Amino acid sequence: MLRITDILDKTQSYLSAPEQELIEKAYIFSASVHQGQVRLSGEPYLTHPVEVAGILADMKLDAATIVTGLLHDTVEDTVATLPQIKEAFGKEIEFLVEGLSKISRITFGSRVEHQAENFRKMILAMSADIRIILVRLADRVHNMRTLEFQPPDRQKFIAEETLELYAPLANRLGINWMKVELEDLAFRYLNPDAYADLVNRLAKKEEEREQYTKEVKGIIQKEIDKFGLKGEVEGRAKHLYSIYMKMEEQHIDLNEVYDLIAFRIILDADKESECYEALSVVHALWKPVPGRFKDYIAMPKANSYRALHTTVIGPYGERVEIQIRNRTMHEWAEAGIAAHWRYKEGRAYISGEDDQIKKLRDLLEVQQELKNPREFMSNLKMALFADEVYVFTPRGDVKAFPKGATPIDFAYSIHTDVGNQCIGAKVNRNIVPLKYELQNGETVEVITQAGHHPSKDWLKYAVTSRAISKIRNWVKTEERKKSVALGKDLLEKEFKKHNLKLSQILKSDEIKKMYTEYSVGSLDDLMAMVGYGKVSAKRIVNQFVPEEEAGTAEIPLVAEEKKRKAPSSVGISITDIEDIMVRFARCCNPIPGDEIVGYISRGRGVTVHTVNCPNVEGMDAERIVDVQWNIKEKQTYPVHMRVVCRDKKGLLAEVSTVISSMDINISHAEVETRPADMQAILSFEVNVSDLQQFNQVLAAIKKLKSVISVERVKTA
Ligand code: MN
Repeated sequence: MLRITDILDKTQSYLSAPEQELIEKAYIFSASVHQGQVRLSGEPYLTHPVEVAGILADMKLDAATIVTGLLHDTVEDTVATLPQIKEAFGKEIEFLVEGLSKISRITFGSRVEHQAENFRKMILAMSADIRIILVRLADRVHNMRTLEFQPPDRQKFIAEETLELYAPLANRLGINWMKVELEDLAFRYLNPDAYADLVNRLAKKEEEREQYTKEVKGIIQKEIDKFGLKGEVEGRAKHLYSIYMKMEEQHIDLNEVYDLIAFRIILDADKESECYEALSVVHALWKPVPGRFKDYIAMPKANSYRALHTTVIGPYGERVEIQIRNRTMHEWAEAGIAAHWRYKEGRAYISGEDDQIKKLRDLLEVQQELKNPREFMSNLKMALFADEVYVFTPRGDVKAFPKGATPIDFAYSIHTDVGNQCIGAKVNRNIVPLKYELQNGETVEVITQAGHHPSKDWLKYAVTSRAISKIRNWVKTEERKKSVALGKDLLEKEFKKHNLKLSQILKSDEIKKMYTEYSVGSLDDLMAMVGYGKVSAKRIVNQFVPEEEAGTAEIPLVAEEKKRKAPSSVGISITDIEDIMVRFARCCNPIPGDEIVGYISRGRGVTVHTVNCPNVEGMDAERIVDVQWNIKEKQTYPVHMRVVCRDKKGLLAEVSTVISSMDINISHAEVETRPADMQAILSFEVNVSDLQQFNQVLAAIKKLKSVISVERVKTA
């Protein structure tokens, strides 16, 4: 059983006296709160945090990490609280312990294999500090080492989670020994028969293998010595799980697995060039197998692993796998990210290491200046994944999104229809607006309504390209539909002026000629052009009208006839407050009941003005279209009004009461007093549903005794 003194021994070489005292203090704290708790093995619970701290100490991690190892289960499993930990050990350790508590609450369902990657990323993203993951991994190593005390179903679950989640995490962080140990332990519990069989068969030939290993090692060692390269040769059996996987994947027997033993040349000098020299020595000795050479020095693996790998035909015509690396590379290959702590403050990085750290830093996209390893590590966020956010579906699937994603992105990731019809979402069962930014670990449920459709505004909240393109698509289709309809209306109206019928014109060959002239492919295209305002209806219609008539189209008689003949069905119905093709002019703020006209702005649809808006006068007559109200849904529209009154106390309240009593909302009110003539001017912005309602409120205000006048105000 590991004791606290063992941990202090392990850390003595690299931690200061105060840091060691902090570790002792954490031990005492942990011992007191875990007092009386027992593990399934029958041992006191305290053995577990001590073992975890021991693993972290062997990895030569910093004091805060080892302290966190001792405290990692205190908040979740004992009466200890985060504030207590902050009080006793400071903010940094509180932060680490809190991070661990959060992660331990994520459970890995393992329902779908491809989800494992998302879970791994989620854990990385949720750990603002890499040390949180290192403690979690050490925790898992010890739990796996003592897995025999768990009931069988727990054994399976934990082993599966280890294989899917934690071993790959260790691998991603480059901690090879941990990956190997976790995989072999998981294998033992997940497939006990295959495990036992493999162990037995390997044991039978162990002596033979040892003999062979010794021989090959000797030959290589002699060669590199001969060429003056300093270093040693290692040879050891690959780990069980990797042998098993090879047999499974390639459908081969153990006898056919040629690379049971991996040979390694570890060179003393911190020079890459010597690795290549050693490679040429090996290739001169034994013939290399083509296509088996891999240069991870020139092109390191994603987890920063560096080495040369080659396979050669060995002394008995068998294949031999050889890895070549120097001491620095070797240390990195085994310790991975944890190797950072081995470079103590004050020791300058030599070029090789510097390069190594740079690569890792690039990998993790850490922007900050690298001052010392401790600071670097404590601030090291997994930026690679920090710009992603991971959320759950109600069924427990994990989905990954770019940071800033909203329920809209989530909805479109499920299905286009779900996106198009989404009206809201529940996050952790609470209703949120569509613009809500999703956070790591949340469960998201989309609320849809049949017949609902997207809005152009959604483009402001969507961040995934899928959602954006689907919304754009919808907007484009809708714009096109509306401009075709608008164009058709405009053409009909224009043809009517000349007593021509659009339907007849459409059957003529003349209209086909237009397609070429305006380079469009169909009638709809042509109508859309008119609707968009790219070409005027008049220009098209004039081509069907005899020349003399075309010139006289505007004479009073025709105009009068037009007035008589143009029924109210001509023009556009204004049905909604605003949509893709229709917007209300800000200068006159038309409300239902107002007499209105539409103005086609190029490519932007129709702007609706009141007939008497001063801005309408200067407009291009060709682009003015008839529009009329056709309100189905009740909407309110802002209107400004000015009330002039005799100044007296409580005036604003009096007028406001009248407005509110009619169930009209006041969105803005202002009072200006003019002491000179004892008058007050009240300005209001009210929201009314139509002109009738507005006129009613005007009349009601007029009745007030102190009111001199009341009028509607156009803002521009
Ligand atoms: Mn634990």
